[in-house]
Amino acid sequence: MADATPDAFDADYLLVGGGLQNGLILLALAARKPQARVLLLEQGEVIGGNHIWSFQALDLPDTALDWARPIIEYEWPGYQLYFDDSARWVQGVYRSLSSEHLHRLVLDAAAGSEGIEVRLGAAVADVDGHSVQLADGTRLHGRVVVDARGPEAAHPMGRGRFSGGYQKFVGLECRLAALTDLAAPILMDSRCAQRDGFRFHYVLPFAPDRVLIEDTYFSNTPDLDVDALSREIVAEAPRLGLQVAEVLRTEVGVLPMPAWSHFRAADASPITGGYAGGWFNPGTGYSLAAAARLAEHLSAVPVADTFGHEWQRLTRRMRIQAHFLAFLNLLMFGFFHGAKRRRLMERFYMVSDAVIHRFFAMRNNPIDMWRIMYVGAPWTPKGWAKRPEQPAAAQVAASSAE
Ligand SMILES: Cc1cc2nc3c(=O)[nH]c(=O)nc-3n(C[C@H](O)[C@H](O)[C@H](O)COP(=O)(O)OP(=O)(O)OC[C@H]3O[C@@H](n4cnc5c(N)ncnc54)[C@H](O)[C@@H]3O)c2cc1C
Repeated sequence: MADATPDAFDADYLLVGGGLQNGLILLALAARKPQARVLLLEQGEVIGGNHIWSFQALDLPDTALDWARPIIEYEWPGYQLYFDDSARWVQGVYRSLSSEHLHRLVLDAAAGSEGIEVRLGAAVADVDGHSVQLADGTRLHGRVVVDARGPEAAHPMGRGRFSGGYQKFVGLECRLAALTDLAAPILMDSRCAQRDGFRFHYVLPFAPDRVLIEDTYFSNTPDLDVDALSREIVAEAPRLGLQVAEVLRTEVGVLPMPAWSHFRAADASPITGGYAGGWFNPGTGYSLAAAARLAEHLSAVPVADTFGHEWQRLTRRMRIQAHFLAFLNLLMFGFFHGAKRRRLMERFYMVSDAVIHRFFAMRNNPIDMWRIMYVGAPWTPKGWAKRPEQPAAAQVAASSAE
């Protein structure tokens, strides 16, 4: 099929799986290539499953905002971290969107463009370079196929002690009994009982009476007792200054933080995108930054140049970052256990805001890499880096309200 004429194709871009990766690609193509024919196939009845996706300043650089701005559902000016004997404010926008929001945007884009079609309830059985076969036997052809069927289709490498670990969590979206004045997210509050690796609470304040509270672990094992942790979140919420009146929604994640990168981008269709293809940050388990870069690329180059020079540059950079970040997991999950892991995380957050933003966005430069390795080293004195002052609560509240 590779030598077929363009008209023999059902779409220029055939997107398999309607999750975060292909949702972003569809939105980028809709904005930047309104003439492109795009066909998205999703086995479920909704786009995006059941998630809140959060991302940091650089994860969605300004160059992407022409197509990506609508995905920003919530935005705060920065976020707070708490360790036992220190606290840290990180300046720089922090944003979130929900699956429902992505679902609406994708269906609106399809409704507003003749060239875009979204098929829900379309399970794909088989994918090759230029075609897919649906479960009902139908075969469809695309010039470029992006196979992004999610984490279940991923194949992490490594075993035992050196397989890395997991960022696992239970999150409850809650209605509060008393209004909170929390004006910015708490990315980490580790002033809780430690167990199962490094444990912390994560809080997103969506509204004065509605928050997401997550109990999160950087653990060597994937096990999670969702019911027990849900009960505990409600019981421990007062420590965070929050009184839960009602649980509105539960989300559960067990995100691999592999010790070996499985980013393997071939130079031909199909592209294995999203989590399945290693388009995620091994150091955080988060994928929005990497997924946005793939969407950026596909929407910026002509379809015939998909695997040209720009693709080589992008995948080379991603490969270097993925290997570096996975190497950090190898060290953390292999050698830092118990209190040592918590100390390591505290030391990591001594680095400057800019280094933190580049770390999350998979844009570490060689000096960042050196700094991150150095703060992690056990011999590094704790006062090695100057910790930025934590702004007064009133200041945070003022900037988030702007
Ligand atoms: C609870 C949770 C919270 C997370 N929070 C964040 C976050 O805050 N920030 C962040 O950057 N990352 C986050 N992640 C990690 C990552 O961004 C998500 O896992 C993300 O959804 C991965 O995107 P994806 O497109 O690769 O896969 P998915 O979003 O999982 O999408 C895959 C899609 O493919 C469909 N599919 C599967 N098989 C077939 C088939 N045979 N035929 C047709 N369709 C199929 C699925 O139904 C699904 O809709 C989170 C993950 C979880 C689980």
